[in-house]
Amino acid sequence: MHQLTIQAERMERRIEQLAAIGKISETGVCRLALSPEDREAAELAKSWMEEAGMDVRIDAFGNLIGRIEGQDPNAPALMLGSHIDTQPYAGRFDGTVGVLGAIEVVQTIAEQRIVPAIPIEVAAFCDEEGCRFNKGLFGVRGLLGRLEEGELERADKNGVTRREALVAFGGDPERFSASQYPPGRINAFLELHIEQGPVLESLGSPVGIVTGISGPLWWTVDLRGFAGHAGSVPMPLRKDALVGAARIIVGLQELASGEPGAPTVATVGSLRVFPDSRNIIPEHVQFTIDLRDIDLARRNELEAKLRQLIAAAAEENGLRAEIREDTNSEPRYCAEPILETIRASASEMSLTVPELMSGPFHDSLAMSYYCDYGMIFVRCREGISHNPKEFASGDDIALGTELLYRTALKLCGASSSMPTGGGLQDGP
Ligand SMILES: [Zn+2]
Repeated sequence: MHQLTIQAERMERRIEQLAAIGKISETGVCRLALSPEDREAAELAKSWMEEAGMDVRIDAFGNLIGRIEGQDPNAPALMLGSHIDTQPYAGRFDGTVGVLGAIEVVQTIAEQRIVPAIPIEVAAFCDEEGCRFNKGLFGVRGLLGRLEEGELERADKNGVTRREALVAFGGDPERFSASQYPPGRINAFLELHIEQGPVLESLGSPVGIVTGISGPLWWTVDLRGFAGHAGSVPMPLRKDALVGAARIIVGLQELASGEPGAPTVATVGSLRVFPDSRNIIPEHVQFTIDLRDIDLARRNELEAKLRQLIAAAAEENGLRAEIREDTNSEPRYCAEPILETIRASASEMSLTVPELMSGPFHDSLAMSYYCDYGMIFVRCREGISHNPKEFASGDDIALGTELLYRTALKLCGASSSMPTGGGLQDGP
């Protein structure tokens, strides 16, 4: 085990305590955004931020934000954070590790009696998950002035609107503009998060550096052929939409696997067949495509090939194909100076850290439009997430938090004090 400045036991204890709020099974948690459980968790996290010496507030968007001043209180701040809301059937680490890690960093800085050159803010952003109102990254987008028309009118399954839930939580739609951050208030954002995928585990690495968040291309594809009796229409005369879809699905898998080692992923996750009967040739098939890559040029190339593939499959089977683009987000890359800083911190710790992209979204995705950002991933067991079986070890989380601490120290203008020397520093 590497020597740590942060307190691993405190992190573990807090993860346990937070997991008790909204507990649904031995290891499962349900803490939907803006629910009473979410508020209770925010109160607990708030008390830890205060213990770490921060000034804390819950803003109009429902974000919990703590701040310590630097030597220059007017300088743009370094922000650290993630989220503490969860999916309905979730584990205890997704988001939580990033918020508690950020608090741990600030508490350690205070305990080391380091005064950063610039202010540090810690955020637990409201409603990252997006499952309750079907649109996520709410708090962070609010903070950055990126909310869309009608978001407050979105209702959950019980007909409660976001506006109502937000007011009950302690937010205030009338004060949104006062809570918004002007450009330049934050100069960099760091997020610690569990990987939610199997790459680090497969490499035997406890932590990794994220190079970027891949942008998904989401399509809905309709293939239309002609229904007929499954017993009478000869094979050459058929216009079977499902056969066309099958070709596309297999072809898509081949396209996405074409470049060995590339992080490209493609999925057909939903498919509907009409009229869906054993003895009728399928007339209409509708399916989704999710294509992701960190390299936009490669993704664009694959998109062009995919369009050719769909056209060819339609042609061969006498089908009409229609493609609807639902989402087209570009990949967002971590800033090179921050990557360098994380690499340098990892090498101080004699840690070998693989670099990987993030398939899932995070609060960092929204922050990337506002300032430079960096992300550190912690290995999680079998890549399982959004499931009570989600697990990351205390040792791995501690290493990730230590890496976050050392990186934050450099970014806030304080040099790292080595754990062994016991030399306390009063700033840069
Ligand atoms: Zn998350």
